[in-house]
Amino acid sequence: MFEDWITDDVKCVLLVEPNFPIPGKSRNHSNFLPIGLLKIASYLREKDIKIKLIRFEEPKEKIDYVQTTLDFDIKDEEDEFKPDLICVTSIFTYWSKYVKNAVQYYKYKFKDTPVLVGGIYASLMPDHCKKYTGCDEVILGTIAESEKLIPAYDLVDVDYQILHTTRGCIRKCGFCGTYIIEPKWLCKNSIKDEIVKKKLIFYDNNLLANEFIEDILDELIELKKERKITYVESQSGFDGRIMLKNPHLAKKLKDAGFKNPKIAWDHSVKQAPYIKKQIDLLVDAGFKEKEISIFMIYNYDLDYKEMEEKRVNCANWGVQITDCRFRPLDQTFDEYSPSKHKGQTEKDYHIHENWTDQEIRKFRRNIRRHNICMRHEVDFHSTLLERKKVPQEDAKKYREMNYEEVKKDLPDAWTPYKFHKAEEQDYFKINNYKEKL
Ligand code: SF4
Repeated sequence: MFEDWITDDVKCVLLVEPNFPIPGKSRNHSNFLPIGLLKIASYLREKDIKIKLIRFEEPKEKIDYVQTTLDFDIKDEEDEFKPDLICVTSIFTYWSKYVKNAVQYYKYKFKDTPVLVGGIYASLMPDHCKKYTGCDEVILGTIAESEKLIPAYDLVDVDYQILHTTRGCIRKCGFCGTYIIEPKWLCKNSIKDEIVKKKLIFYDNNLLANEFIEDILDELIELKKERKITYVESQSGFDGRIMLKNPHLAKKLKDAGFKNPKIAWDHSVKQAPYIKKQIDLLVDAGFKEKEISIFMIYNYDLDYKEMEEKRVNCANWGVQITDCRFRPLDQTFDEYSPSKHKGQTEKDYHIHENWTDQEIRKFRRNIRRHNICMRHEVDFHSTLLERKKVPQEDAKKYREMNYEEVKKDLPDAWTPYKFHKAEEQDYFKINNYKEKL
């Protein structure tokens, strides 16, 4: 247990976010903020323990972690801070190598200091995590005492806060590990006393399933009227089954200030009429179609053809898609690279038996172009236009045309309203518009 490590001898704790492959500018994005560490920071501060948050960057020098003596000095910002305990967080199982690198670095640097690892990967694969990273203990799930506290937002530069009104989920979808990480279904009946910022991001797995959701939404509506909050978003999709049974919730979400609502469409294309009803509820409540996004998992049970049919439905409804490439819950690596146009194999990343590398790449590209078209309310996308490879005069003319007109001139014109075969040529390498024409 985490609490057992917090003895009277512990005066300084280092909190480490590994060097996950997140672009520098996205490190504080709400999808990646190390919220668990910020909660632990508050918990430790309450006990008068000094803390330091490190957004770990791997040292440029190659370190042989197996050697027993330091043969060079590692000079960095935590040099003056001698921790009694080090806590490393983890996210996806397939980013395990970044956790290992951080653990190995700190075990090397502070040889006698225990290193703990918590977070999603640690909770889903505790045995692998302990052996592979070489940490001293794996912390499972959430830390009850720290859950009650306001995270230490002063340690990061963000204008939003993250909230949970629930833990766990009422469902058990085959591709989701929530039931392992948060096995207990817990609901709060109020969050108003937790509000410290005007922008709120809910991290609930299934917000609408909270048995007190009406009370929570009423609180948010009041806070919005009082101008204490300005922006609300749910990181996960809304559970459409619950919304269809309680259609008035859509209006309450709108009145509470929710933006960019998402709905999950995990199953067959035959569910289209049912998904459309959920979209209609949101539109009737005042959300714009292009603001709505449909969560879709691909590289999973449904093949490329069916997923592409689902995508075309979304185009006809005018909504965006939030795509998620499936990786098994115990996948410990992922080297997928969208720029490797010549392709990759199972050795690089997980390819489901119903999918091929070519289909995965094509579907991802389709989604990207689909979303650009929906956001801009246009019926075609052209990489040549996007990359400004077309002379300005021509570009202006093409932007005023529709797909049927432009496809004769622009070889890479792509429309979201059509089914695109995986084999269909994409024009990655066109750099010179004139030459190609
Ligand atoms: S509803 Fe969402 S959070 Fe719940 S089990 Fe399914 S995918 Fe996971």
